[in-house]
Amino acid sequence: MLSNYSRSASALKTLLQQNGIRHASVLQVIERTPRHLFIDDVLKHKAYENTALPIGQGQTISQPYIVAKMTELLLDAGVKGKVLEVGTGSGYQTAILAQTFDEICSIERIKSLQWQAKRRLHQLDLYNVAMKHGDGWQGWSSKAPFNGIIVTAAAKTVPEALLEQLALNGVMIAPIGESEQTLMLFRKTEQGIQSEQLAAVRFVPLVAGEIVL
Ligand code: SAH
Repeated sequence: MLSNYSRSASALKTLLQQNGIRHASVLQVIERTPRHLFIDDVLKHKAYENTALPIGQGQTISQPYIVAKMTELLLDAGVKGKVLEVGTGSGYQTAILAQTFDEICSIERIKSLQWQAKRRLHQLDLYNVAMKHGDGWQGWSSKAPFNGIIVTAAAKTVPEALLEQLALNGVMIAPIGESEQTLMLFRKTEQGIQSEQLAAVRFVPLVAGEIVL
């Protein structure tokens, strides 16, 4: 018999499909990833709703639609191989990426969130993720270059260090702005960086500077 959670995960998959997510692989990964494991007990009953939810420390787990969409955008852009995620948060997007790409590097500035996320990924037997506690504005130069970069917090200006760490033909998807944010796609080409505006979005800010222990 299916558990309530797997029934709900299947309903979430159908909803995302109706909302325009097309990649079968992304939909399958959403269906088999237990989002309730990434959420505090008191909110678990909302785990399979298509909403962002608080995860403590003033942060949120992203809405499933945006997680699926950003993953799909990387696939549509032809990204394969190594992907950097900035803003691990709950680790849910990390888990989706880890089941879609070969190798994931993920940076989080809040140590307690990073720890919890690491535990959850191991619980799900996802071992192709390297995690770092640090400032995502700086990227992860020793792991660069990256074929894809996904930023899950809004940067008020374009993070140049991240663009530098993209491989040639690599793509970065990032929300840019403060009160008004636009999801943007950047591609590194022989001629330089090409950018495209995708949609209006709402993310927590990509905080500059100090690291919270
Ligand atoms: N994809 C995550 C989103 C979490 S919210 C999820 O679905 O759970 C964004 C995360 O970015 C927060 O955890 C926040 O602490 C982190 N963050 C904000 N600024 C950062 C920075 N400069 N470096 C690394 N992480 C940062």
